[in-house]
Amino acid sequence: MIVTRFAPSPNGPLHLGHALSAITAHDLAKDAGGQFLLRIEDIDGARSRPELAESFRADLEWLGLEWEEVSAQSTRLAGYEAAAERLKSAGLLYPCQCTRADIKAAATKFGPEGPIYPGTCKGKDVDLSQPVAWRLDIGRAQAAVGPLDWFDALAGPQVAVPERLGDVLIMRKDAPASYHLAVTIDDAADGVTLVTRGQDLFAATHIHRLLQALLDLPVPRWHHHPLLLDEIGKKLAKRRGSASLADLREAAVDGAKIASDIRLGRFPIGMSLRKG
Ligand code: GLU
Repeated sequence: MIVTRFAPSPNGPLHLGHALSAITAHDLAKDAGGQFLLRIEDIDGARSRPELAESFRADLEWLGLEWEEVSAQSTRLAGYEAAAERLKSAGLLYPCQCTRADIKAAATKFGPEGPIYPGTCKGKDVDLSQPVAWRLDIGRAQAAVGPLDWFDALAGPQVAVPERLGDVLIMRKDAPASYHLAVTIDDAADGVTLVTRGQDLFAATHIHRLLQALLDLPVPRWHHHPLLLDEIGKKLAKRRGSASLADLREAAVDGAKIASDIRLGRFPIGMSLRKG
């Protein structure tokens, strides 16, 4: 059975790009008699606004989607901690006390998520009485599991190249788990068989594939859909004035019509899907 999910973070309102993502995941499951899940990814510390989760549910209902909601990430912290401890005992994590500014100043390589961690704290004696983050030693981790592959429904077979993102965070200074760790554990725990999300997370999947191998988790398939772009070719964002689904809902726009337009590839003037 196909199980997909929509996993929004309540850091800001949903917009049409999220609607495209949710509808894609919903239809891929439902058209095959499968299950579509909603998971609220609310471990983003100070940025997380719990009241938005209720608005997300209203948005999905307005679009005419049906889902089953699974536990929010904030209720799963013990599992993340246990997995991080396992990686730590295997000697695959190292503590890091760098700030964002330190990393920006020292980085020489840049990836899709910004500067690649330059390995400043690797092999260093880090003071563990202060809050520290924990990073994955990508070289060691890869050596422990060997070459890996994965499959994207649109882009085809992929060889995992997690080193492209460098020694990513596993536990953050201010949060018990990084996005990479939490999402990988949850997709396995929720029985997701087809991870459906935007192409902006394609690079992250190489890391998730590595974490699955390290933590003996099942390997799903992925479907990274093209992103919806605004009139200047950027990802939609509330801060650049993209209307939120809540705005449209409150203006009595017909959600079922919006959903059917998205399914037909019709978007408001100025918006387009990223090609390739
Ligand atoms: N929570 C993530 C976000 O809102 C998405 C996670 C995912 O789909 O893997 O960007």
